[in-house]
Amino acid sequence: MKILFTCRYLILVIGLISCHTRESRIIGETEILKWPEGKKTAVSLTYDDGSINQFRIALPMMDSLGFPATFYIITGQIPGSRFLPGFIGRPEGEILRESAGIPTHKDNLFERASLAAYAPWQGLREYHTRAGELYESGKTEEACRVIDEAFEKIRNGELKKVSKRDPYQSGENSITWDNIRSIAQHGHEFGSHTITHPRLAVLDEKNLLYELEKSREDILNFLGPGHTFSAECPYGTENERVMEYAYDIYPALRNRMPADYLAELNRGNRENPGSFENEYVQWQRGPLTDTPMELMKSWVDTCLAKDNLWLVLVFHGVEGIGWESKSSDELQEYFNYLDHHREKIWIATFRDVTRYIRERMNATVEQVRESKALKIKLTHNLDQGMYNFPLTLKTYIPAGWDQVQGFQDVKVLKIRKFSDEKGDFVVYNAIPNAGDIQLSGK
Ligand SMILES: [Zn+2]
Repeated sequence: MKILFTCRYLILVIGLISCHTRESRIIGETEILKWPEGKKTAVSLTYDDGSINQFRIALPMMDSLGFPATFYIITGQIPGSRFLPGFIGRPEGEILRESAGIPTHKDNLFERASLAAYAPWQGLREYHTRAGELYESGKTEEACRVIDEAFEKIRNGELKKVSKRDPYQSGENSITWDNIRSIAQHGHEFGSHTITHPRLAVLDEKNLLYELEKSREDILNFLGPGHTFSAECPYGTENERVMEYAYDIYPALRNRMPADYLAELNRGNRENPGSFENEYVQWQRGPLTDTPMELMKSWVDTCLAKDNLWLVLVFHGVEGIGWESKSSDELQEYFNYLDHHREKIWIATFRDVTRYIRERMNATVEQVRESKALKIKLTHNLDQGMYNFPLTLKTYIPAGWDQVQGFQDVKVLKIRKFSDEKGDFVVYNAIPNAGDIQLSGK
Protein backbone atom coordinates (compact mmCIF):
# COMPACT_ATOMS: atom_id res chain seq x y z
CA MET A 1 0.00 0.00 0.00
CA LYS A 2 2.78 2.35 0.92
CA ILE A 3 4.74 1.43 -2.22
CA LEU A 4 1.72 2.03 -4.36
CA PHE A 5 1.25 5.47 -2.82
CA THR A 6 4.89 6.38 -3.48
CA CYS A 7 4.59 5.27 -7.06
CA ARG A 8 1.48 7.30 -7.56
CA TYR A 9 3.17 10.33 -6.06
CA LEU A 10 6.19 9.88 -8.29
CA ILE A 11 4.05 9.57 -11.38
CA LEU A 12 2.28 12.77 -10.43
CA VAL A 13 5.56 14.65 -9.99
CA ILE A 14 6.98 13.31 -13.26
CA GLY A 15 3.71 14.17 -14.90
CA LEU A 16 3.95 17.75 -13.65
CA ILE A 17 7.56 18.06 -14.81
CA SER A 18 6.92 16.59 -18.25
CA CYS A 19 3.80 18.69 -18.62
CA HIS A 20 5.80 21.79 -17.87
CA THR A 21 8.71 20.91 -20.20
CA ARG A 22 6.32 19.92 -22.93
CA GLU A 23 4.69 23.30 -22.74
CA SER A 24 7.94 25.21 -22.80
CA ARG A 25 9.37 23.00 -25.51
CA ILE A 26 6.50 23.83 -27.78
CA ILE A 27 7.08 27.57 -27.47
CA GLY A 28 8.82 28.81 -30.56
CA GLU A 29 8.08 25.60 -32.43
CA THR A 30 7.49 26.66 -36.03
CA GLU A 31 6.17 24.81 -39.03
CA ILE A 32 5.58 25.89 -42.61
CA LEU A 33 1.97 25.22 -43.46
CA LYS A 34 1.33 22.91 -46.38
CA TRP A 35 -0.60 25.59 -48.24
CA PRO A 36 -0.62 29.38 -47.78
CA GLU A 37 -2.93 30.71 -45.07
CA GLY A 38 -3.72 27.17 -43.97
CA LYS A 39 -5.87 26.37 -47.02
CA LYS A 40 -6.87 22.77 -47.72
CA THR A 41 -5.93 22.56 -51.37
CA ALA A 42 -4.53 24.45 -54.35
CA VAL A 43 -6.10 24.91 -57.77
CA SER A 44 -4.33 26.24 -60.86
CA LEU A 45 -6.40 27.24 -63.87
CA THR A 46 -4.27 26.80 -66.99
CA TYR A 47 -5.11 27.47 -70.63
CA ASP A 48 -3.28 26.07 -73.63
CA ASP A 49 -2.72 27.36 -77.17
CA GLY A 50 -3.71 31.01 -76.61
CA SER A 51 -7.00 30.90 -78.52
CA ILE A 52 -8.71 34.26 -78.49
CA ASN A 53 -11.79 33.52 -76.37
CA GLN A 54 -9.60 32.53 -73.47
CA PHE A 55 -8.80 36.24 -73.26
CA ARG A 56 -12.12 37.65 -74.42
CA ILE A 57 -14.40 35.45 -72.34
CA ALA A 58 -12.67 33.38 -69.66
CA LEU A 59 -10.23 36.05 -68.53
CA PRO A 60 -12.80 38.75 -67.61
CA MET A 61 -14.75 36.15 -65.61
CA MET A 62 -11.62 35.19 -63.72
CA ASP A 63 -10.64 38.82 -63.19
CA SER A 64 -13.99 39.63 -61.64
CA LEU A 65 -13.45 36.84 -59.09
CA GLY A 66 -9.78 37.67 -58.59
CA PHE A 67 -8.57 34.31 -59.97
CA PRO A 68 -5.11 34.35 -61.53
CA ALA A 69 -4.68 32.24 -64.69
CA THR A 70 -1.74 30.59 -66.43
CA PHE A 71 -1.68 30.84 -70.24
CA TYR A 72 0.65 28.66 -72.30
CA ILE A 73 1.07 30.55 -75.55
CA ILE A 74 2.37 29.60 -79.00
CA THR A 75 4.74 32.49 -79.58
CA GLY A 76 5.17 32.04 -83.35
CA GLN A 77 1.47 32.90 -83.77
CA ILE A 78 1.71 36.28 -82.08
CA PRO A 79 2.32 39.25 -84.42
CA GLY A 80 5.63 40.90 -83.68
CA SER A 81 7.41 37.82 -82.37
CA ARG A 82 11.01 37.81 -83.44
CA PHE A 83 11.40 34.06 -83.80
CA LEU A 84 9.20 32.62 -86.51
CA PRO A 85 8.62 29.06 -87.67
CA GLY A 86 11.27 27.65 -89.99
CA PHE A 87 13.32 24.55 -90.61
CA ILE A 88 16.94 24.59 -89.51
CA GLY A 89 19.13 22.12 -91.37
CA ARG A 90 20.35 20.96 -94.75
CA PRO A 91 18.63 22.31 -97.88
CA GLU A 92 15.16 20.80 -98.19
CA GLY A 93 15.76 19.72 -101.81
CA GLU A 94 18.72 17.62 -100.71
CA ILE A 95 16.70 15.84 -98.02
CA LEU A 96 13.75 15.25 -100.34
CA ARG A 97 15.92 13.86 -103.15
CA GLU A 98 17.68 11.57 -100.70
CA SER A 99 14.32 10.26 -99.49
CA ALA A 100 13.65 8.84 -102.98
CA GLY A 101 16.50 6.34 -102.56
CA ILE A 102 16.73 5.85 -98.79
CA PRO A 103 13.55 5.04 -96.90
CA THR A 104 13.02 6.74 -93.56
CA HIS A 105 14.51 4.80 -90.64
CA LYS A 106 15.16 5.51 -86.99
CA ASP A 107 18.41 7.40 -87.69
CA ASN A 108 17.05 9.87 -90.23
CA LEU A 109 13.51 10.12 -88.84
CA PHE A 110 14.15 13.21 -86.71
CA GLU A 111 15.67 15.25 -89.53
CA ARG A 112 12.87 14.33 -91.90
CA ALA A 113 10.11 14.76 -89.33
CA SER A 114 11.58 18.19 -88.56
CA LEU A 115 11.48 19.15 -92.22
CA ALA A 116 7.88 17.90 -92.34
CA ALA A 117 7.04 20.25 -89.47
CA TYR A 118 8.13 23.41 -91.27
CA ALA A 119 8.57 22.94 -95.04
CA PRO A 120 5.98 24.93 -97.02
CA TRP A 121 3.71 22.27 -98.47
CA GLN A 122 0.05 22.25 -97.71
CA GLY A 123 -0.95 19.49 -95.32
CA LEU A 124 2.63 18.53 -94.53
CA ARG A 125 2.38 19.59 -90.87
CA GLU A 126 -0.35 16.97 -90.36
CA TYR A 127 2.08 14.25 -91.48
CA HIS A 128 4.60 15.53 -88.98
CA THR A 129 2.00 15.49 -86.22
CA ARG A 130 0.83 11.97 -87.06
CA ALA A 131 4.42 10.67 -87.24
CA GLY A 132 5.13 12.24 -83.86
CA GLU A 133 2.10 10.68 -82.28
CA LEU A 134 3.04 7.23 -83.63
CA TYR A 135 6.64 7.61 -82.52
CA GLU A 136 5.60 8.57 -79.00
CA SER A 137 3.35 5.55 -78.75
CA GLY A 138 6.33 3.33 -79.58
CA LYS A 139 5.46 2.82 -83.27
CA THR A 140 8.69 4.04 -84.85
CA GLU A 141 8.28 1.94 -88.01
CA GLU A 142 4.81 3.33 -88.65
CA ALA A 143 6.09 6.86 -88.01
CA CYS A 144 8.76 6.35 -90.67
CA ARG A 145 6.17 5.13 -93.17
CA VAL A 146 4.07 8.27 -92.59
CA ILE A 147 7.06 10.47 -93.43
CA ASP A 148 7.84 8.33 -96.51
CA GLU A 149 4.28 8.80 -97.70
CA ALA A 150 4.46 12.58 -97.24
CA PHE A 151 7.81 12.94 -99.00
CA GLU A 152 6.69 10.73 -101.88
CA LYS A 153 3.68 13.00 -102.35
CA ILE A 154 5.95 16.04 -102.42
CA ARG A 155 8.25 14.41 -104.97
CA ASN A 156 5.25 13.48 -107.12
CA GLY A 157 3.78 16.97 -106.91
CA GLU A 158 0.71 15.75 -105.02
CA LEU A 159 1.05 18.31 -102.23
CA LYS A 160 0.65 21.96 -103.08
CA LYS A 161 3.61 24.17 -102.35
CA VAL A 162 2.65 27.36 -100.57
CA SER A 163 4.80 30.38 -101.24
CA LYS A 164 5.05 31.54 -97.68
CA ARG A 165 3.59 30.12 -94.54
CA ASP A 166 1.56 32.71 -92.71
CA PRO A 167 2.36 31.90 -89.12
CA TYR A 168 -0.12 34.36 -87.65
CA GLN A 169 -3.66 33.92 -86.62
CA SER A 170 -5.95 36.03 -88.78
CA GLY A 171 -6.16 39.69 -87.72
CA GLU A 172 -9.08 40.08 -85.35
CA ASN A 173 -8.61 36.66 -83.78
CA SER A 174 -5.07 37.30 -82.74
CA ILE A 175 -3.87 38.54 -79.40
CA THR A 176 -1.00 41.02 -79.45
CA TRP A 177 2.04 41.31 -77.24
CA ASP A 178 0.63 44.60 -75.92
CA ASN A 179 -2.54 42.79 -74.78
CA ILE A 180 -0.48 40.03 -73.25
CA ARG A 181 1.74 42.45 -71.38
CA SER A 182 -1.20 44.22 -69.81
CA ILE A 183 -2.82 40.89 -68.81
CA ALA A 184 0.47 39.76 -67.27
CA GLN A 185 0.65 42.98 -65.26
CA HIS A 186 -2.67 42.05 -63.64
CA GLY A 187 -1.20 38.99 -61.96
CA HIS A 188 -1.67 36.33 -64.62
CA GLU A 189 1.12 34.03 -65.67
CA PHE A 190 2.25 33.40 -69.24
CA GLY A 191 4.40 30.45 -70.20
CA SER A 192 5.80 28.99 -73.36
CA HIS A 193 3.90 26.45 -75.43
CA THR A 194 6.74 26.58 -78.01
CA ILE A 195 6.89 28.56 -81.26
CA THR A 196 4.72 26.36 -83.49
CA HIS A 197 3.20 23.59 -81.31
CA PRO A 198 5.08 20.68 -82.92
CA ARG A 199 5.54 17.10 -81.80
CA LEU A 200 8.85 17.84 -80.09
CA ALA A 201 9.73 14.16 -79.65
CA VAL A 202 10.41 13.75 -83.39
CA LEU A 203 12.38 16.96 -83.89
CA ASP A 204 16.14 16.81 -84.22
CA GLU A 205 18.26 18.68 -81.72
CA LYS A 206 18.58 21.97 -83.61
CA ASN A 207 14.88 22.34 -84.29
CA LEU A 208 13.88 21.10 -80.85
CA LEU A 209 16.14 23.65 -79.18
CA TYR A 210 14.93 26.44 -81.44
CA GLU A 211 11.30 25.76 -80.44
CA LEU A 212 12.14 25.78 -76.74
CA GLU A 213 14.84 28.43 -76.47
CA LYS A 214 13.58 30.99 -78.92
CA SER A 215 10.02 30.87 -77.67
CA ARG A 216 11.46 31.61 -74.24
CA GLU A 217 13.50 34.46 -75.67
CA ASP A 218 10.46 36.19 -77.17
CA ILE A 219 8.58 35.84 -73.88
CA LEU A 220 11.57 37.16 -71.96
CA ASN A 221 11.88 40.15 -74.29
CA PHE A 222 8.19 41.04 -74.22
CA LEU A 223 7.20 40.10 -70.66
CA GLY A 224 10.32 39.75 -68.54
CA PRO A 225 11.78 36.92 -66.48
CA GLY A 226 8.67 36.29 -64.37
CA HIS A 227 7.11 34.53 -67.34
CA THR A 228 9.92 32.20 -68.27
CA PHE A 229 9.49 30.00 -65.20
CA SER A 230 7.03 27.38 -66.37
CA ALA A 231 6.31 25.90 -69.79
CA GLU A 232 4.15 23.23 -71.35
CA CYS A 233 5.55 21.11 -74.16
CA PRO A 234 2.70 20.43 -76.63
CA TYR A 235 0.42 17.39 -76.51
CA GLY A 236 1.30 16.85 -72.86
CA THR A 237 4.41 14.97 -73.95
CA GLU A 238 6.41 13.12 -71.32
CA ASN A 239 9.10 11.99 -73.77
CA GLU A 240 12.34 11.62 -71.82
CA ARG A 241 14.56 13.27 -74.41
CA VAL A 242 12.24 16.26 -74.71
CA MET A 243 11.97 16.60 -70.94
CA GLU A 244 15.75 16.60 -70.60
CA TYR A 245 16.19 19.45 -73.08
CA ALA A 246 13.23 21.39 -71.73
CA TYR A 247 14.46 21.18 -68.14
CA ASP A 248 17.69 22.87 -69.10
CA ILE A 249 15.67 25.81 -70.31
CA TYR A 250 12.66 26.04 -67.96
CA PRO A 251 12.67 25.51 -64.19
CA ALA A 252 9.16 24.01 -64.26
CA LEU A 253 7.17 22.01 -66.78
CA ARG A 254 3.51 21.23 -66.50
CA ASN A 255 4.30 18.01 -68.39
CA ARG A 256 6.43 16.54 -65.63
CA MET A 257 8.59 17.72 -62.77
CA PRO A 258 9.80 14.68 -60.90
CA ALA A 259 10.42 14.96 -57.16
CA ASP A 260 9.99 12.25 -54.55
CA TYR A 261 7.62 14.42 -52.52
CA LEU A 262 5.34 15.00 -55.52
CA ALA A 263 3.11 12.43 -57.20
CA GLU A 264 2.05 13.46 -60.69
CA LEU A 265 -1.16 12.29 -62.27
CA ASN A 266 -1.49 13.54 -65.82
CA ARG A 267 -4.73 14.21 -67.65
CA GLY A 268 -5.07 10.64 -68.87
CA ASN A 269 -4.32 9.03 -65.51
CA ARG A 270 -7.25 7.18 -63.97
CA GLU A 271 -5.77 6.47 -60.54
CA ASN A 272 -7.45 7.81 -57.44
CA PRO A 273 -5.46 10.87 -56.32
CA GLY A 274 -6.55 10.22 -52.74
CA SER A 275 -4.59 6.96 -52.70
CA PHE A 276 -1.19 8.69 -52.83
CA GLU A 277 0.62 9.43 -49.60
CA ASN A 278 3.22 11.79 -51.08
CA GLU A 279 3.49 15.16 -49.41
CA TYR A 280 1.90 16.65 -52.54
CA VAL A 281 -0.06 15.25 -55.45
CA GLN A 282 -0.36 17.23 -58.67
CA TRP A 283 -3.64 16.08 -60.19
CA GLN A 284 -4.23 17.28 -63.74
CA ARG A 285 -7.68 17.22 -65.24
CA GLY A 286 -8.56 18.52 -68.70
CA PRO A 287 -12.21 19.48 -69.07
CA LEU A 288 -13.33 18.65 -72.63
CA THR A 289 -16.49 19.79 -74.41
CA ASP A 290 -18.43 16.75 -73.16
CA THR A 291 -17.05 16.66 -69.61
CA PRO A 292 -20.10 16.97 -67.33
CA MET A 293 -20.26 19.83 -64.85
CA GLU A 294 -20.89 17.41 -61.99
CA LEU A 295 -17.64 15.60 -62.73
CA MET A 296 -15.73 18.86 -62.88
CA LYS A 297 -17.18 19.88 -59.51
CA SER A 298 -16.37 16.48 -58.03
CA TRP A 299 -12.65 17.12 -58.71
CA VAL A 300 -12.87 20.11 -56.38
CA ASP A 301 -14.72 18.06 -53.75
CA THR A 302 -12.05 15.34 -53.93
CA CYS A 303 -9.36 17.93 -53.26
CA LEU A 304 -11.25 19.44 -50.35
CA ALA A 305 -11.49 16.02 -48.70
CA LYS A 306 -7.67 15.73 -48.52
CA ASP A 307 -4.90 18.17 -47.73
CA ASN A 308 -2.17 17.23 -50.24
CA LEU A 309 -3.89 17.65 -53.61
CA TRP A 310 -3.06 20.30 -56.18
CA LEU A 311 -5.67 20.37 -58.91
CA VAL A 312 -4.22 21.60 -62.20
CA LEU A 313 -7.00 22.27 -64.67
CA VAL A 314 -6.10 22.28 -68.34
CA PHE A 315 -8.52 24.23 -70.55
CA HIS A 316 -8.27 24.63 -74.30
CA GLY A 317 -11.04 26.18 -76.39
CA VAL A 318 -13.60 28.64 -75.08
CA GLU A 319 -17.02 29.33 -76.61
CA GLY A 320 -16.43 27.66 -79.95
CA ILE A 321 -12.85 28.78 -80.57
CA GLY A 322 -10.02 26.33 -79.93
CA TRP A 323 -9.82 22.59 -79.31
CA GLU A 324 -12.59 20.95 -77.20
CA SER A 325 -14.15 24.22 -76.20
CA LYS A 326 -16.24 24.89 -73.10
CA SER A 327 -19.13 27.34 -73.17
CA SER A 328 -19.02 30.59 -71.24
CA ASP A 329 -22.00 29.46 -69.12
CA GLU A 330 -20.15 26.35 -68.03
CA LEU A 331 -17.01 28.28 -67.20
CA GLN A 332 -18.98 30.81 -65.17
CA GLU A 333 -20.77 28.08 -63.22
CA TYR A 334 -17.52 26.30 -62.51
CA PHE A 335 -15.67 29.44 -61.45
CA ASN A 336 -18.57 30.28 -59.13
CA TYR A 337 -18.28 26.81 -57.60
CA LEU A 338 -14.59 27.38 -56.94
CA ASP A 339 -15.37 30.82 -55.52
CA HIS A 340 -17.97 29.30 -53.21
CA HIS A 341 -15.19 27.22 -51.59
CA ARG A 342 -12.70 30.05 -51.71
CA GLU A 343 -12.00 29.98 -47.97
CA LYS A 344 -10.39 26.56 -48.33
CA ILE A 345 -8.94 26.75 -51.84
CA TRP A 346 -5.75 28.50 -52.80
CA ILE A 347 -6.25 29.58 -56.40
CA ALA A 348 -2.86 30.42 -57.85
CA THR A 349 -0.79 30.27 -61.01
CA PHE A 350 1.17 27.16 -61.87
CA ARG A 351 4.33 29.15 -61.16
CA ASP A 352 3.33 30.24 -57.67
CA VAL A 353 2.14 26.83 -56.51
CA THR A 354 5.37 25.27 -57.81
CA ARG A 355 7.40 27.90 -56.00
CA TYR A 356 5.51 27.46 -52.72
CA ILE A 357 5.94 23.68 -52.78
CA ARG A 358 9.62 23.77 -53.72
CA GLU A 359 10.45 26.47 -51.19
CA ARG A 360 8.63 24.65 -48.41
CA MET A 361 10.25 21.32 -49.24
CA ASN A 362 13.71 22.90 -49.30
CA ALA A 363 13.38 25.29 -46.39
CA THR A 364 15.03 25.13 -42.99
CA VAL A 365 13.41 26.73 -39.97
CA GLU A 366 15.52 27.49 -36.91
CA GLN A 367 14.15 29.05 -33.79
CA VAL A 368 15.87 30.78 -30.92
CA ARG A 369 14.04 31.68 -27.74
CA GLU A 370 15.20 34.96 -26.30
CA SER A 371 14.08 36.43 -22.98
CA LYS A 372 11.12 38.35 -24.30
CA ALA A 373 11.00 37.37 -27.92
CA LEU A 374 11.17 34.51 -30.37
CA LYS A 375 13.58 34.64 -33.24
CA ILE A 376 13.00 32.47 -36.32
CA LYS A 377 15.28 31.97 -39.28
CA LEU A 378 13.67 30.84 -42.52
CA THR A 379 16.14 29.89 -45.24
CA HIS A 380 16.59 27.70 -48.29
CA ASN A 381 19.35 27.04 -50.80
CA LEU A 382 17.29 27.56 -53.94
CA ASP A 383 17.87 30.43 -56.38
CA GLN A 384 16.77 33.43 -54.33
CA GLY A 385 15.83 35.57 -57.31
CA MET A 386 13.28 32.99 -58.38
CA TYR A 387 12.16 31.38 -55.15
CA ASN A 388 11.01 34.30 -53.05
CA PHE A 389 7.34 33.49 -52.68
CA PRO A 390 6.06 34.10 -49.12
CA LEU A 391 5.54 30.97 -47.03
CA THR A 392 2.93 30.75 -44.29
CA LEU A 393 4.43 29.94 -40.88
CA LYS A 394 2.81 28.78 -37.68
CA THR A 395 4.69 29.48 -34.44
CA TYR A 396 3.68 28.55 -30.88
CA ILE A 397 3.95 31.48 -28.50
CA PRO A 398 4.09 31.75 -24.70
CA ALA A 399 0.77 31.79 -22.91
CA GLY A 400 -0.12 35.31 -21.92
CA TRP A 401 1.01 37.00 -25.10
CA ASP A 402 -2.23 38.81 -25.74
CA GLN A 403 -0.83 41.08 -28.36
CA VAL A 404 1.84 39.79 -30.68
CA GLN A 405 4.06 41.89 -32.86
CA GLY A 406 6.21 40.54 -35.65
CA PHE A 407 8.92 41.76 -37.95
CA GLN A 408 10.95 40.20 -40.68
CA ASP A 409 14.05 42.33 -40.83
CA VAL A 410 12.36 45.77 -40.70
CA LYS A 411 9.13 44.72 -42.33
CA VAL A 412 6.03 44.49 -40.13
CA LEU A 413 4.33 41.10 -40.36
CA LYS A 414 0.59 40.63 -40.40
CA ILE A 415 0.02 38.33 -37.44
CA ARG A 416 -3.07 36.26 -36.68
CA LYS A 417 -3.41 34.51 -33.31
CA PHE A 418 -5.12 31.18 -32.68
CA SER A 419 -4.94 28.33 -30.20
CA ASP A 420 -5.23 24.58 -30.31
CA GLU A 421 -4.76 21.71 -27.84
CA LYS A 422 -1.00 22.34 -27.80
CA GLY A 423 -1.25 26.03 -26.96
CA ASP A 424 -1.44 29.50 -28.45
CA PHE A 425 0.11 30.08 -31.85
CA VAL A 426 0.42 32.75 -34.50
CA VAL A 427 0.21 32.47 -38.27
CA TYR A 428 2.03 34.85 -40.60
CA ASN A 429 3.72 35.04 -43.98
CA ALA A 430 7.46 35.41 -44.40
CA ILE A 431 9.86 35.27 -47.33
CA PRO A 432 12.76 32.81 -47.15
CA ASN A 433 16.22 34.38 -46.85
CA ALA A 434 14.72 37.83 -46.30
CA GLY A 435 16.09 38.32 -42.80
CA ASP A 436 15.36 37.12 -39.27
CA ILE A 437 11.80 36.94 -38.06
CA GLN A 438 11.24 38.46 -34.62
CA LEU A 439 8.05 37.82 -32.63
CA SER A 440 7.33 39.53 -29.36
CA GLY A 441 4.28 39.79 -27.15
CA LYS A 442 2.71 41.51 -24.26
ZN1 LIG B 1 -1.44 22.70 -77.03
